[in-house]
Amino acid sequence: MTIQWFPGHMAKARREVSEKLKFVDIVFELIDARLPLSSRNPMLDQIVQQKPRLILLNKSDLADINQTNQWLNYFRDQGHQVLALTAKDDKSVKQIVPASKKVLAEKIARDKDRGVKPRAIRAMVLGIPNVGKSTLLNHLAGKKIASTGNRPGVTKGQQWLRFGTQLELLDTPGILWPKFEDPAVGKKLALTGAIKDDLLHLDDLALYQLEIFCRYYPEQLKDRYKLTNEDLFLDFPELLMLISEKRGFRDDYERASEMLILELRQGKLGRYTLDRFEELSE
Ligand code: GDP
Repeated sequence: MTIQWFPGHMAKARREVSEKLKFVDIVFELIDARLPLSSRNPMLDQIVQQKPRLILLNKSDLADINQTNQWLNYFRDQGHQVLALTAKDDKSVKQIVPASKKVLAEKIARDKDRGVKPRAIRAMVLGIPNVGKSTLLNHLAGKKIASTGNRPGVTKGQQWLRFGTQLELLDTPGILWPKFEDPAVGKKLALTGAIKDDLLHLDDLALYQLEIFCRYYPEQLKDRYKLTNEDLFLDFPELLMLISEKRGFRDDYERASEMLILELRQGKLGRYTLDRFEELSE
């Protein structure tokens, strides 16, 4: 699903999220582990404000493990609770309840002191399109979930999904817009499939992909396309031409670009992270 975001849509999305925030104890901010900065909504802090938050670096099964560990520390250093997540994986999803309890530890202790009976944590999932919100909700909704029906005050038709006895989730996630301003961010989002690539030239995207892989994942690129060490010293357009030739696409660079991007998205080039931790200070 790709949404075209216009100012009106953004205002509406923001309003809808703000409305729902009132009914939850905690927000699960879903980010793509391959893009820990680029896949965040630029106004999230303003929108979520003081509401407790758990950051989930989703699709961590596709991301570079070393980079993910550094990004986890980066978010922890900022005082956030954060998990590396694979939304389709049972074991991974199970970490969410204990992590949420950590985020809400003070509130839980306060309630206990006051003699308030403990209740399930109420949460909502928030993130840009394609980051895995529905996958996470559907996964949670597996066998264990019973819809708990409407609650007064929550948007009509809004349901709560119950995960075990300790967590309840709004059944519709908050969908927010990605960053647009920086062309490099646009390319990264398009490469991972977060935004439509028809606004960008395929060969531009593929050249960017080659640049990143030559720099950070040369072995993965060499293995996949049977390249030599010398090949990696070619200019990126020349490298694209070579790969095109090797795949039998001759001078159809458009087709070669499409193939490169598709294979990247299908995970055939191995794990990768496009937002580089070491470039943070640049
Ligand atoms: P939404 O737009 O945020 O609801 O995103 P979706 O849940 O529809 O997911 C977008 C795509 O990412 C789908 O093809 C999912 O199968 C895939 N996806 C979601 N979570 C994961 C994950 O943890 N790992 C992998 N490999 N793919 C995922």
